[in-house]
Amino acid sequence: MNGKVYLIGAGPGDPGLITVKGLTYLRQADVILYDRLVHPQLLDEAPVTAERIDVGKEPKLHRRPQGEINELLIAKAREGKVVVRLKGGDPFVFGRGGEEAQALAEAGIAFEVVPGVTSAIAVPAYAGIPVTHRDFASTFTVVTGHTCGPDSVIDWEALPKSGTLVFLMGVRHLPEIVEQLVAHGRAPETPAAVIEWGTTTAQVVVRGTLADIAEKSKKIGPPATLIVGEVVKLSEQLTWFDPLSNAESCQGLSIPLKVEVEAH
Ligand code: SAH
Repeated sequence: MNGKVYLIGAGPGDPGLITVKGLTYLRQADVILYDRLVHPQLLDEAPVTAERIDVGKEPKLHRRPQGEINELLIAKAREGKVVVRLKGGDPFVFGRGGEEAQALAEAGIAFEVVPGVTSAIAVPAYAGIPVTHRDFASTFTVVTGHTCGPDSVIDWEALPKSGTLVFLMGVRHLPEIVEQLVAHGRAPETPAAVIEWGTTTAQVVVRGTLADIAEKSKKIGPPATLIVGEVVKLSEQLTWFDPLSNAESCQGLSIPLKVEVEAH
């Protein structure tokens, strides 16, 4: 009999941000295929006997083509295994989780999606930035910055002129992103922040405006998130997370879960 694949969101970094359901399935895994941004502590939660396969992709260094990952998921499920596909943040937010689910559906493999805490919301939150606020923003838009280079496919004109913008995967294209935003109607003095390794003990927050954020973020590398909009002004007042003195939550993750979640 075929096994089942669980597409699980691991959360944005802080291992305590995996969901109860995600952790429950992880603890029943026979095989885990995990991404680069998944916290190592989470892998310790899986049974020692579970096979752990790193399918992570370094930026610019595509270690394993997507097709191969899909095939591996299908092959392991066909061996009758409980397969956990552990992905950073939420599996359906820029994580190719949709493509993996399609491949499974086409192959007739049973799967379940366990949504995760996306970095698009949690990373700003850990920097004291609410993505919406009645006084400052009634919308937030999540954009991939991956394709923001010279051959950009982003429809800059179509991006909202107010509200919050969250760019994932854009750190290498910051100068182009801010240039385009200003060219398409955002004021250069619009508050902006870049957060590197958000929600982890390595979190770095750089605050500025569209005029200077690219310059100020020169030392920042992936993973990093860019937030643009008036809500960024709240960051200083609402700072609550101190990465240095505040160890990541649920250290050791020995959460004694009593929740019954059915596997298989
Ligand atoms: N599915 C993921 C996003 C995958 S795209 C989610 O829902 O969070 C990967 C991008 O997410 C990175 O390039 C970066 O922009 C952002 N990201 C992920 N983890 C992050 C972190 N800890 N701090 C800052 N940005 C992060």
